[in-house]
Amino acid sequence: MVRRTDRNRTKPVIRLAPELVPEPLWHISGYHLLTRGAWKSIRARVLAKSKGACAICGAVQEKGMVCHEVWHYQGSKRIATLASLRLICPDCNRVHHIGMTQLLMPERYEPTIRHMARVNGFPTAIAREFVERAFEVWRRRSATQWRTAIAPRLKRRFPQLAVAAGRIEKPRAGARRVRARSGQPW
Ligand SMILES: [Zn+2]
Repeated sequence: MVRRTDRNRTKPVIRLAPELVPEPLWHISGYHLLTRGAWKSIRARVLAKSKGACAICGAVQEKGMVCHEVWHYQGSKRIATLASLRLICPDCNRVHHIGMTQLLMPERYEPTIRHMARVNGFPTAIAREFVERAFEVWRRRSATQWRTAIAPRLKRRFPQLAVAAGRIEKPRAGARRVRARSGQPW
């Protein structure tokens, strides 16, 4: 019999993995849809709360820290929800957007794979498997139509998001035409 504690101990904890944004949801984000001032004030609060440290690996950098939008995807209901915001460092951000890293910063690709492996405490071969799997999930999610939403808790915490909800919370049609043209999974 496996006790709950034993099961928890053997289950690996993945701290950092790619979070590829499905193609119909590209540019659907607080960053893109809020006014510059509104997003800056949200970012300042997230930065202050985290005391400037990356929520994933703990790195502290004066410049380049990212206010990361954590989206949850419910495939069965086709709902993508902006669930939380957290401060992360550029290295962790490059892992989340590994497709973009590969395409736009090819020289950063291998260091990014090594960073993912180091943070999770597993070999780079496993990191590469995670990337492959992330692309498979991305392809499946990109062929889906999504409705976007913001978690109510987040709207209460950041009224600026509630103001922009009309711009963020909408049905998003698939975008096969764009994918066919670019052919780039990110
Ligand atoms: Zn980090």
